[in-house]
Amino acid sequence: MGQFKVIVVGAGPVGLVLAIALQKSGIDFVVVEQRKQVPPPTAFGIFLWPHILRIFHQLGLYEDMQSIGQVMTKLENRSSTGEHLEISNSFELLEFAHGYPTMLFDRRTFAEVLMKNLKRSDQLVKTNKKVTNITTRKDGVTVDFADGTSERGSIVVGADGVWSTVRDFMRERAPPGLFSEGPNPFIAPYQGLFFRVPRPESLKPGQTVYVHQPNKQLMALVTATEAHMTTYERVPDVSERTYFSPNKVTDEDVKYWFDVPVNEQITFKDLWDDKVMGGKVNHDEGVIPWWHWDRLVLVGDSVHKVECSMSPFRGAGARCGIEGVISLVNKLNRTLNSNPDPSRQDLSRAFTAYQVEREPAARLWVHVSRLDIDLYTSKAGPASKAATFADGRTIPIVANSPVLDILPFPDEKEGVVPWRRHPKADGQSKDVKARL
Ligand SMILES: Cc1cc2nc3c(=O)[nH]c(=O)nc-3n(C[C@H](O)[C@H](O)[C@H](O)COP(=O)(O)OP(=O)(O)OC[C@H]3O[C@@H](n4cnc5c(N)ncnc54)[C@H](O)[C@@H]3O)c2cc1C
Repeated sequence: MGQFKVIVVGAGPVGLVLAIALQKSGIDFVVVEQRKQVPPPTAFGIFLWPHILRIFHQLGLYEDMQSIGQVMTKLENRSSTGEHLEISNSFELLEFAHGYPTMLFDRRTFAEVLMKNLKRSDQLVKTNKKVTNITTRKDGVTVDFADGTSERGSIVVGADGVWSTVRDFMRERAPPGLFSEGPNPFIAPYQGLFFRVPRPESLKPGQTVYVHQPNKQLMALVTATEAHMTTYERVPDVSERTYFSPNKVTDEDVKYWFDVPVNEQITFKDLWDDKVMGGKVNHDEGVIPWWHWDRLVLVGDSVHKVECSMSPFRGAGARCGIEGVISLVNKLNRTLNSNPDPSRQDLSRAFTAYQVEREPAARLWVHVSRLDIDLYTSKAGPASKAATFADGRTIPIVANSPVLDILPFPDEKEGVVPWRRHPKADGQSKDVKARL
């Protein structure tokens, strides 16, 4: 094999951030996406924590993200009978702790900013490329697509979401039992709706509203122009595949929410009647036990589902995936610096180091997120004080989140909780310069 090249399968939020991190590292890559367009039509926003904004700052995306994102401010807790319970300033506290705000984005403009910041994205992100086969050889990989074309590279990164095709190929090749035997390695203890609606006057930009009831919860996240709505409903664990893309939901499916007040002026039905796009989905959760095989490695939803994340304090899956790809690129940089043409063993060591670093954090996010939603939907009423204690466990994981080791970050911001990891270089190393 000649120059080391990464084939990234999937141009979701995690695949696109991975592409930017690879480009900053001077590592050759191509992103292949089955859809006709990036970004796809979306029916819900994306909510990201301070440590992800810090990663964006290091990657040079922060100003663009600030120009399209909504800084979150107050969080209001209400009962389903319209009673006002409490207002929390948790988002301001998060910024005080970590130096960056928590922000809500529209997924389309978010993906557009990522594409804009990826140089030569028109050549490096190839759409209409549905993966149909992956062949690994001693010196590389070949990925075949439904349109009859193929790509050759050194490794494949599966950023292809919860129903990952790359994971399916890994399962076929690995010894039985290493990956889940069924088509769905995750279970969903909650189901829910998601939809976008033009912002009504009475919901304020930056505001979050929770409406609690036993076994169910409703959330409104508000930007300058829209409210992004989700619901969670406790169900006996289910494992059938659902898709987080616009799909049909009838009035009958949601009518138990209709009369629930979201604030003094509006009910759920007022918002539902005005919705732009929506759907229903199972909130899958879990972490698969093995993250790589041969020249294939998984990132994002393909390897961990942190979805029981009703609280914006969780907010959760894409964020966990973005942390993961930064860690993976750090391991690849280290490997390539010592050997520009790494063997399977070198790659296996790099992938293992990535899993060892990220798996405990992913499992903790899943655990705390689940605890949080269980507490909020408790039969005895929302246990918000207990949930606040659970939230405290996330502060050290956030402080320990990765940045790119090879990229100088002189203007990094910090809050009262210091970041534990910093780039390893003051300037770009000669290895990275040589690759760029
Ligand atoms: C209602 C709801 C709200 C959420 N809110 C948040 C939030 O606020 N914050 C947050 O961090 N997370 C949130 N999440 C989770 C978040 O959406 C996911 O974690 C995130 O989208 C995962 O990103 P990904 O890039 O790993 O996968 P995806 O976004 O699923 O992207 C995978 C891509 O791979 C492509 N692909 C799949 N198969 C193939 C193939 N065979 N060939 C080629 N391409 C392929 C797909 O078309 C897709 O574009 C939410 C989820 C739900 C359901």
